[in-house]
Amino acid sequence: MNFLSPELDKYVAEHTEPESETLQKLNRETNAKVLYPQMLAGHLQGRMLSMLCHMIQPKQILEIGTYTGYSAICLAEGLQEGGTFHTIDINEELEEMVKSYFVEAGISDKVRFYIGNALEIIPTIDKTFDLVFIDADKENYINYYNMVFDKVRTGGYIIADNVLWNSKVLQDAKKMDAETRAINAFNKKIQADLRVHNVLFPIRDGLMLIRKS
Ligand code: SAH
Ligand code: CA
Repeated sequence: MNFLSPELDKYVAEHTEPESETLQKLNRETNAKVLYPQMLAGHLQGRMLSMLCHMIQPKQILEIGTYTGYSAICLAEGLQEGGTFHTIDINEELEEMVKSYFVEAGISDKVRFYIGNALEIIPTIDKTFDLVFIDADKENYINYYNMVFDKVRTGGYIIADNVLWNSKVLQDAKKMDAETRAINAFNKKIQADLRVHNVLFPIRDGLMLIRKS
């Protein structure tokens, strides 16, 4: 999704720190070999996630939806010394590729990579998180939010990706497919939740930034 003209997009990319060689390679390999490569966070959003993470300085991060590990590597850049990055994906076919990139990025000793359904795995992780990144199946965004809420410390953050869903959130409610309805319901729930501060940040496909007060 483009909010800016192609010229401005290019200008923004040219004035945003480049991806590391490892991330560039992962981006290319995902596009060449993996289904749905548009799911990968990419240069601008990846740098944004890294920047946000450096600002938050989390010690415990949970990511729901690893895919090929691009956003994981970006987020892990901001992890505090001695911290742990937990990431979950249901797609076991990507396990080998993801693990090899975690090694190449030098983060494999701080990552715990869970393969399976996040709905089943989240309750088994007994940790308090400073940051949770929600980026798996859209129908379950509200379930993930409810499941992680008590595991996020007061003052901690939840970030959810794709909350503009390629502008489909603007569709007539009757025309929305299940994913669009779920994303829209998620956004409305967050907006109405008095326990949090939130801003819908219009970068790429939309990031909902949520701070638990
Ligand atoms: N965060 C990644 C992209 C994630 S794409 C990036 O920015 O690079 C969404 C991922 O969610 C897919 O890899 C998919 O396999 C995973 N997923 C879908 N349903 C899931 C579930 N129930 N539990 C865990 N992962 C799930
Ligand atoms: Ca995403």
